[in-house]
Amino acid sequence: MRKWNFSAGPAAIPEEVLLETQSELLEWNDSGMSIMEMSHRSSEFISVASAARQNLIELLNIPDNYQVLFLQGGATLQFSMIPMNFAFNKTADYLLTGTWSKKAIAEASKITSINTVASSETSNFQHVPEPGEWIESPTAAYFHYVANETIQGNALHQPPETKAPLVADMSSVILSEPINVSKFSMIYAGAQKNIGPAGLTICIIQDEFLASASDSLPGMLQYSKHADSDSMFNTPPTFAWYLAGKVFLWLKNQGGLKSIAVVNHSKAESLYRFIDESNFYSNPVAIANRSIMNIPFLLNNSDLDGQFLHDSENAGLLNLKGHRSIGGMRASIYNATPQEAIDALIEFMREFEITHG
Ligand SMILES: *Cc1c(COP(=O)(O)O)cnc(C)c1O
Repeated sequence: MRKWNFSAGPAAIPEEVLLETQSELLEWNDSGMSIMEMSHRSSEFISVASAARQNLIELLNIPDNYQVLFLQGGATLQFSMIPMNFAFNKTADYLLTGTWSKKAIAEASKITSINTVASSETSNFQHVPEPGEWIESPTAAYFHYVANETIQGNALHQPPETKAPLVADMSSVILSEPINVSKFSMIYAGAQKNIGPAGLTICIIQDEFLASASDSLPGMLQYSKHADSDSMFNTPPTFAWYLAGKVFLWLKNQGGLKSIAVVNHSKAESLYRFIDESNFYSNPVAIANRSIMNIPFLLNNSDLDGQFLHDSENAGLLNLKGHRSIGGMRASIYNATPQEAIDALIEFMREFEITHG
């Protein structure tokens, strides 16, 4: 029996999408074979792949002067590919707001020199430093930030105004609400949070920025090679691409990003409101920087953590354990998690508080 899954990633996928995938698993569309048994160069697969790309373009309203790539290697490979392609022998600006930006900086530091424009590490990444505190390099190749820190549960809700071209890791927030793509030179996201199964990484790169990329790297590490070959420089993750396409259609059927944003904001607000009104649970993130996708919370008495996890699992609420570096709990509430799941979680939390408070 399926339960409410609050996993940070790989995360919940809409049940309708899984059911439709199941119905097509043995044979896709009178082709005599499964989609995962099909050549990526076949006209059938190419039609699936282009429809997925087109639906993503429509959902995010991506302008014509951007390439939309379907790659592998996760967001983590982007941590290396971005400096390799765009910053070799140049400084790059990084905003340090949590575990993922820290990892991005660690990888980029192996490639080039990094300017950390600001950091909230000394306050455990419980807020995002104000733009007024940022010290940008006058010559940076790009400015990198993580729009939503999946582990700490903080977010920068609007794209910042920066001197250098803006590059954002949107792994855990992409497609949760509309964004103005034209503010960015590059957006990237691993699929397994809000797009589909693991193994697929989406990169959205402005043409002019792409033209500035290195062309002396090994092919697999060069964005322009992937762009020139429509993301088929080698065999792409065909099944993940196909399934992501179904998630994009599902999102369109939900009314697109404006509609899902309303749902996502009210989901997050209901959980934050409950936590803030309680003396039993707390969330440490500055209100202006609270994530709408990943909501960490602490039990004021951490001796009860084990009991909470045990009882919540029995109540059909899965994967609420916080990241090991933070402790406590975390509810990841991506697009595929409905208000009903949040209501069930709040009801459970209320009862747990009555029993143990
Ligand atoms: C999950 C995540 C990553 C890492 O993604 P992989 O696909 O495992 O490489 C990077 N950045 C953010 C913000 C994430 O949430």
